[in-house]
Amino acid sequence: MAVPKRKVSKSRIGQRKHSHRVHVRRGTTCPQCGGLRLSHRACPACGFYNGRQVLTVESA
Ligand SMILES: [Zn+2]
Repeated sequence: MAVPKRKVSKSRIGQRKHSHRVHVRRGTTCPQCGGLRLSHRACPACGFYNGRQVLTVESA
């Protein structure tokens, strides 16, 4: 429901925008190479997921 801007306090705006914050992506370490990776995602460094190669990683 629309409310005039000047009738909404800074505190109220802050409470609303609280949910707009960027969530920190939790990561784990790769068991294959020990580097950081996101959980339930293949490792970007070595391409391993669940003990097998799922991505082809070209080493430059
Ligand atoms: Zn890895």
